[in-house]
Amino acid sequence: MEASQEINLLIDTVRRFVETEMIPHEDEIDRLGHVPEEIGRTIEAKSKELGLYACNLPEEVGGGGLGYGPMSLIEREYGKTSHALQSWAARPTELLMACEGDQREQYLLPAVRGEKRELFALTEPDAGSDVMGMKSNARRDGDDWILNGSKHFVSGPCMPDFAIVFAATGEDETPRGPRKRITAFLVDVGASGFVCRQGTRCVSYRGYNTYELHFDNVRLSSEKVLGEEGHGLELAGKWLGMGRIWVGATCCGKAERILSMATDWAANRKQFGKPIGAFQATGFRLADGAINLRAADLMVKDAVSRAENGSMSDADAAMVKVFCSEMLNNIADDAVQIFGGMGLMEEMPIQRFWRDSRLERIWDGTSEIQRHIITRSILRPLGA
Ligand SMILES: Cc1cc2nc3c(=O)[nH]c(=O)nc-3n(C[C@H](O)[C@H](O)[C@H](O)COP(=O)(O)OP(=O)(O)OC[C@H]3O[C@@H](n4cnc5c(N)ncnc54)[C@H](O)[C@@H]3O)c2cc1C
Repeated sequence: MEASQEINLLIDTVRRFVETEMIPHEDEIDRLGHVPEEIGRTIEAKSKELGLYACNLPEEVGGGGLGYGPMSLIEREYGKTSHALQSWAARPTELLMACEGDQREQYLLPAVRGEKRELFALTEPDAGSDVMGMKSNARRDGDDWILNGSKHFVSGPCMPDFAIVFAATGEDETPRGPRKRITAFLVDVGASGFVCRQGTRCVSYRGYNTYELHFDNVRLSSEKVLGEEGHGLELAGKWLGMGRIWVGATCCGKAERILSMATDWAANRKQFGKPIGAFQATGFRLADGAINLRAADLMVKDAVSRAENGSMSDADAAMVKVFCSEMLNNIADDAVQIFGGMGLMEEMPIQRFWRDSRLERIWDGTSEIQRHIITRSILRPLGA
């Protein structure tokens, strides 16, 4: 079978999986505000059966070994439904590939097999966009580290088994002044002094949980350092870059679904004896949505090919994140307008998509932070 046929088959499989195992539960989980364990575990089991669990990680560690191209198409399909459901079909963070020695048996391989779930814990109450403002810190005590601090808004579908926690482990002198050394640690839920509890509830992707993490003198052996001491941000950066492309892809999938609902409504809802789509003010919203979705899909495709040949920059990823998330928000908002009052009624899914879409401009770095990254890439070469 040709590679393109194989990819088409794979995408058909994911599409059917989303349609049969996820979309039918969307309204219920939005109303309940949580995903009933049975539904989550069924999605998890089915994704293993289909070979989709950990499909993003290399075959040599038991993953699906899919490249960036197929992964972007899979993320696009998953984007059509709620993150609260699709995240049960886990794609563990690629950061775990930095595991070495015993860490592979303790964290990487169980995550690939679906025996353990991880969290990515960077954000703190006083340090969101300003990552370097983090107060979480770890100090040496003999060969061990003692971790203190807290994190919030750290998200996942269910209570995790461990968290990848970023903390300051000292300060370096640089030409731009002192800079915190950030190190990534693998911290087990249940470790003495570590409290992980469910945090505040988000109105986007209801049922997708956020957690608060508190560390009170948590003793960690040196084997709990992920990657190299002081190189946590480089590690996080690798993951955040591709993460922003996956956000772009999910935005395209969701935008396609919203546009299709809005188009249906515009073709069937009649006012003044005509379908409302026949009024230019409505029809042009659909046209603009179609143009911008096409452009967003092409941006994702372009970034994927840059990532494949190793030339994707931080600014490339930031452009995709801003453009796709704002494209999605414009389409979601226009869809509410096309639906009129019905767009805001709980009986209709449009208000849910509108709420869900809003998060995409915030997590994985806000639109403002992405623009800051792009501006820096334009001005820095000029010394400004
Ligand atoms: C549902 C959800 C899930 C999340 N999951 C995770 C997770 O798993 N792991 C994790 O570590 N984090 C996670 N986050 C955190 C997310 O990445 C942060 O919310 C985001 O980076 C913004 O930080 P903040 O909320 O503290 O906003 P702030 O940094 O306080 O920003 C508030 C506003 O100020 C603007 N602003 C801040 N600084 C600047 C500047 N220099 N220039 C211009 N504007 C600026 C921002 O753009 C924003 O508009 C999650 C958040 C949510 C809501």
